[in-house]
Amino acid sequence: MRPFRYRRPAEVAEAVALLDAEPEAAYLAGGTNLVDLMKLGVQRPNLLVDVTRLPLDTVEPLPGGGVRIGANVRNSDLAAHPVIRRDYPVLTRALLAAASGQLRNMATTGGNLLQRTRCGYFQDTSKACNKREPGTGCAARHGQNRDLAVLGWSEHCVATHPSDMAVALVALDAVVEAHAADGPREIPLTHLHREPGDRPEQETTLPRGALITAVRLPPSPLARRSAYHKARDRASFAFATGSVAAALDLSGGVVRDVRLAYGAVAHRPWRAYRAEETLRGQPFTPELAARAADVELAAARPLAHNAFKVPLIRNLTVRALTELAGQP
Ligand SMILES: Cc1cc2nc3c(=O)[nH]c(=O)nc-3n(C[C@H](O)[C@H](O)[C@H](O)COP(=O)(O)OP(=O)(O)OC[C@H]3O[C@@H](n4cnc5c(N)ncnc54)[C@H](O)[C@@H]3O)c2cc1C
Ligand code: SF4
Repeated sequence: MRPFRYRRPAEVAEAVALLDAEPEAAYLAGGTNLVDLMKLGVQRPNLLVDVTRLPLDTVEPLPGGGVRIGANVRNSDLAAHPVIRRDYPVLTRALLAAASGQLRNMATTGGNLLQRTRCGYFQDTSKACNKREPGTGCAARHGQNRDLAVLGWSEHCVATHPSDMAVALVALDAVVEAHAADGPREIPLTHLHREPGDRPEQETTLPRGALITAVRLPPSPLARRSAYHKARDRASFAFATGSVAAALDLSGGVVRDVRLAYGAVAHRPWRAYRAEETLRGQPFTPELAARAADVELAAARPLAHNAFKVPLIRNLTVRALTELAGQP
């Protein structure tokens, strides 16, 4: 491992200034992703700015409804928070479907959002990877790509975003609050992660050195009837091969409103706007849910080894929405 320096600021402005002054510095939160990548030689920061002592570890209900989640709130605390469990069950379910209890005790909200892809070639420094080393090629494009993207990929990168939590947050219309050297900003979560295009090394729309300080959830009566369904190779402690976050508002059997997002299918958590449009205003049936998924997935371009993801996501969509439709 390359030698690095370590700082532990007590204030947001100090943390942002440290990153701004050092092009090769990185924020350290729970370390469950960054430290692994440092051991593999994939990330080689010269300075770690430990953000875990910043006062960003509370879940605050907001006066007009909704909730602000500090960037340092641990995944296990967030999943167990009574307001999240009651008002945003899709988020609790997505968090509990991820990793293991020990990892969730360490992992933070900010770190979870910015965790890197699990593409095996990205993690192997002997392989070509445009994301790790721009211009070297993409070993996954014609390699082992079973776990990789079917939507929104480019010839330069076919990686997926691995977070379960981010899929739920995209469905919930969450907003990211961040601080950069030039001041604070807000980014809808649907716009935080980029498609790879010809710059797969640019994963988000955050300016370099920006610190995520919080994630804000708007009030959403819809979200009380919400769920997360995840398919994976093992029943626990495994990343998704495909996942669906859904929230449904039915009135007299008709879809008044709906939110749908897909995970493990693209470089970003995938909000299924076309499927939502297909569902709104229609009497709910499982057949309608399947048709809505088909409309969304018409844009899918499976790779050599992952065509199974298209029917998988279709089936998860039907299962999630049918379960929600059956709830009182
Ligand atoms: C064995 C294993 C299994 C896993 N399974 C799953 C799974 O099934 N589903 C899932 O979703 N995840 C899974 N994970 C990933 C885990 O959820 C992430 O590693 C974790 O959420 C990252 O959070 P962290 O706080 O440890 O981030 P860190 O590792 O500390 O940081 C991750 C990245 O975020 C940056 N960062 C951290 N905080 C901030 C901030 N506030 N502002 C700006 N940048 C920041 C860091 O610089 C770094 O680039 C698994 C991980 C492991 C090791
Ligand atoms: S899919 Fe992306 S992360 Fe994986 S090898 Fe290709 S460029 Fe690298």
